[in-house]
Amino acid sequence: MSVAPDALDPYALTREGLVDLAVELEEPAYRAEQIHGWLVRGVDDPNEMTNLPRSLRAILSERFAPTRPELVAHRVGDDGHTHKLLLRFPDGEAIETVLMLYPKRATVCISTQAGCALGCPFCATGQAGFRRQLTAGEVVRQVVVADAALRSGAIADEELPDGAPDHVTNVVYMGMGEPLANLPATLASVRWLHDPDGFGLSARSITVSTVGLVPGIRKLAELGLPVTLAVSLHAATDDLRDELVPINVTHPLAELEQAVRDYRRTTNRRVSIEWCLIGEVNDDERQADALSAIARRLRAHVNVIPMNPTPGVRWKEPSRERTRAFVDRVRDRGVEITLRDTRGRDADAACGQLLASYTVGAGTRLPAAVGAARRVDELATADRGAAQAGEVSS
Ligand code: SAH
Ligand code: SF4
Repeated sequence: MSVAPDALDPYALTREGLVDLAVELEEPAYRAEQIHGWLVRGVDDPNEMTNLPRSLRAILSERFAPTRPELVAHRVGDDGHTHKLLLRFPDGEAIETVLMLYPKRATVCISTQAGCALGCPFCATGQAGFRRQLTAGEVVRQVVVADAALRSGAIADEELPDGAPDHVTNVVYMGMGEPLANLPATLASVRWLHDPDGFGLSARSITVSTVGLVPGIRKLAELGLPVTLAVSLHAATDDLRDELVPINVTHPLAELEQAVRDYRRTTNRRVSIEWCLIGEVNDDERQADALSAIARRLRAHVNVIPMNPTPGVRWKEPSRERTRAFVDRVRDRGVEITLRDTRGRDADAACGQLLASYTVGAGTRLPAAVGAARRVDELATADRGAAQAGEVSS
């Protein structure tokens, strides 16, 4: 199904934008509040906005782009702690959204792009290449789907760990794609998630992860976006980071560190550093010491995620001994550091690569996603040049 090119994404609109729309349609201004009320409850199909007159519902149905995805697969892991949802949008593009459950906490890991153009060589999304930006509605929609699954009891009690909440409490922008390469959708979706009349999540409950797009970080600081910033560092010297995170060639460590320092100063918010630990690549003492120095200067908490092996990636996960030694060495240098469990049990930050399940076919591929993976592979081969040349607007 194709979407009209001028179709309106209601989640890209602010409250004022909804009022403008009401005015344009010669409707009273309170219609904007009614529509807003539905949108914050995750209803964006005008036909379901039952307090609007039928005629208006019909007009809006023609104007609003459909964002409701089809749930292609739902896989439960880690004794109910991890729920992977494979969502396919009306144009056929598929993404993965991950719900992680703990006592008193339900975290959704959301995607901002189908694929990613930044090509970090250890990351499954990077391997698949860039396919398209998600709209603000498609980003918000992932939270709505996860929230509805919890609230409606669609996830059976026996599939839920003890004490898990019945609604989403935290959102992490750590799924497919680079949120700061899709700033419009990231900013608009955060606005909806933070809106006290809407999803009402606090800045501490929303984490945006970036690979280090400096202009985007500066923009977040300027706007004072109510989020916690996580920076995917992975290497603390430029020689290695140029290899692991190609965007480092454009925005090297000194520039990134300065931007993060300015972000801290302007927003007064803590920043965390993500470190995907790769066996015999970035798990040595030199990197541990360089990381400690940066983390201390930025007063940042470090999250270590042992690399999940991905087909086509020549690197391996680190050994237990080297992992322990790395974490201990950084901690001994006065840095707060947490070792995340790759399986997702304690993995707020570990979900970026879970999409591997269908993009490049990791061992964990969702059975129902094989077709999508094949399609994605074909697309990646056919469209790579065009797509990569596309829309990275840092
Ligand atoms: N583009 C953003 C957000 C999405 S990636 C970013 O890079 O920060 C989310 C996280 O998953 C990143 O920290 C990324 O480094 C991590 N990740 C990617 N591939 C991984 C792998 N194979 N094993 C473990 N973590 C991985
Ligand atoms: Fe893109 Fe992040 Fe993966 Fe790098 S780690 S390729 S920026 S999704």
